Amino acid sequence: MEIEEAIKELKHRGAEKILLQIPDGLKPESFNLFNRFSEEFKVVISSQSFYGACDIGNMEVYRDVDCIVQFGHSEIPNIKYTKPVIFIEYYYKAVELDDNVFSVLRDDGIKDIGLLSSVQYYKEMQYVQEKLDKLGYNVIIGSVDGRLKYPGQVLGCNFSSAHSIANRVDAYLLVSTGLFHGIGAQLSTDKPVYILDLNQKSIRNIQPDIDKFLRKRYARMEPALDAKKFAIIIDTKIGQYRKKLAYSIYSKVKDMGKEAIIVTADNINPMDVENMMCDAAVFTGCPRVSIDDGEKFRIPILTPIEFEQLFGFKSNDRYIMDEIVGVDSYSPIR
Ligand code: SF4
Repeated sequence: MEIEEAIKELKHRGAEKILLQIPDGLKPESFNLFNRFSEEFKVVISSQSFYGACDIGNMEVYRDVDCIVQFGHSEIPNIKYTKPVIFIEYYYKAVELDDNVFSVLRDDGIKDIGLLSSVQYYKEMQYVQEKLDKLGYNVIIGSVDGRLKYPGQVLGCNFSSAHSIANRVDAYLLVSTGLFHGIGAQLSTDKPVYILDLNQKSIRNIQPDIDKFLRKRYARMEPALDAKKFAIIIDTKIGQYRKKLAYSIYSKVKDMGKEAIIVTADNINPMDVENMMCDAAVFTGCPRVSIDDGEKFRIPILTPIEFEQLFGFKSNDRYIMDEIVGVDSYSPIR
């Protein structure tokens, strides 16, 4: 949806007061956006960083507006947003790719390719699909569960589009500009994942990055085996709220004869957790916090599945990526 369409939609909904959520990369446009929307509505901009469509900010911020406009992300269809939210997706600028960029796939014997991308690269993924079709590859785009909007789409916490075609592909090709979604995609599947880096205009297999990642990750997780006190943290963001999962982990910790407390957080920060004098934490919000930011914490911060694998509640044959399929309705206490 474009800005003018969003304005039409807001008028159609009878909105008078609106909140704009602008990602950091677009913040330089704050004055322009504020001025344009202010021609029609009372506007306030949230200065807080936000992480995705799972995060519409604190209730204190959006309580008094009729509608939220979030830039840069696509809706997560199975979240019951407590306010109407209009999503204005942003796409990476189009790039042209030579046919020889794709030759590494043929060299590696790949014929059936599953295409993946986050919403920012979705239009580029469609362009890549056409290129690969013309080059004679069998391109397959997977269907998604209720947390994703578009076929082939991925989030850092959901790779259902990859799972849906796992038996039909030799490998996945993720259209992107960095490793973030590639790491998650490779952790969530046994098939090889290649990244098509649109900045570099090159394709590479990311297995070496995964080997390095897993060595570091297991080293971060292992001290939790000796922990006596656990904080089980529930993130209160509307699309990360997994209270039932948190309480099930809490029960498991208690059954192991260890101490556990239930904690809520909005933006989890190392000092808050460490001040509680716990030896380890299990974070049930965005799995990327444990995976990508774990080194900011002095104690191990585990995803729920890492906890279950470490303590034998789940098989430990291979690392299992924590994926969010659905979240709970908000209520503060069990
Ligand atoms: S939970 Fe994390 S990975 Fe999933 S949408 Fe939110 S910020 Fe992105």
